[in-house]
Amino acid sequence: MALTHEFAWSASRASNFAECRRRHYYSYYGGWLGWDSRAEPARREIYQLGKLKRMPMVAGSAVHESLSDYFHAKPGHVADVKETTDRALSKLRESFRESQSGKGRQSPSRFTHLAEHYYHEDSVKDRAAVASYGKHYVERIERCVQGFFALRELAWVREASPNDYVFVENSQNAFGSFMLRGTKVFGTPDFALRDGDGNVHLYDWKTGRPTEDDAFQLHVYAIFAREEWGVPLERFSGYDVYLDGGGVVRCEITAESLVAAENRIQASADAMRELHFNADRGMGDAEIFPLIPLDSPAARACARCNFRELCGR
Ligand code: SF4
Repeated sequence: MALTHEFAWSASRASNFAECRRRHYYSYYGGWLGWDSRAEPARREIYQLGKLKRMPMVAGSAVHESLSDYFHAKPGHVADVKETTDRALSKLRESFRESQSGKGRQSPSRFTHLAEHYYHEDSVKDRAAVASYGKHYVERIERCVQGFFALRELAWVREASPNDYVFVENSQNAFGSFMLRGTKVFGTPDFALRDGDGNVHLYDWKTGRPTEDDAFQLHVYAIFAREEWGVPLERFSGYDVYLDGGGVVRCEITAESLVAAENRIQASADAMRELHFNADRGMGDAEIFPLIPLDSPAARACARCNFRELCGR
């Protein structure tokens, strides 16, 4: 079945939109259909730039996937810290090799292509730079996996029976969605577990530092749990797990804060909808999605943006 372009909201789309309208255009409009070799070159170029990844993202995915593997282990097998770390490091190294070898450039939808390589960034300019940059992420992964195994609050999670798992993210279920006030909302949690009293505990693995949107993201998951699993708020708890030394933080979610989160989603979706058009019919007008002004402090984001060559940044 052919994919059709449709309007949808997610927390990451919202933050992309808030940071830079032009990046939102490139990510969800300009590059649409660019995976098709018959698409016009401009679409294909934007699509390929949109597929670039950065090492923090690749390291974070490696940790998420290895934790997913931990929960999906064969019956009777419990992976330890070494096995879980080795899996994550192997995913990181494989991704880096795919990018370095040029495979990612040839097929960015199948293989990793790092923006660091594409833009010839200093972090990969020679062997010494690569060694130091790679070590940084190897150590981050080691600390994150150790954090997962060391946190006392996660002991019951690590030891839980798979029968009690409510949700474990994997490559098949990574694009869950639900409808909220007429808007399709994408949002897939990392892991959720039911306790003996029927309460659902949802954990969001974080491999980076806390951000001001973390609590909002857990509110989105509380709505997801209500809409998709039928879990009422009084039976739901959400936690941010800062694996790299920050601990487990339970999010205070009340009926009022949940309504505030729904209103925030609606306001954000309404703003995005004002610029929305059907990208199946054409590439639209990029100019109605302005660039970040060069003299704005927010233009710092351009230095790590996949699309910076299109903006001349
Ligand atoms: S380079 Fe800057 S202005 Fe251009 S899309 Fe990226 S963040 Fe926006």
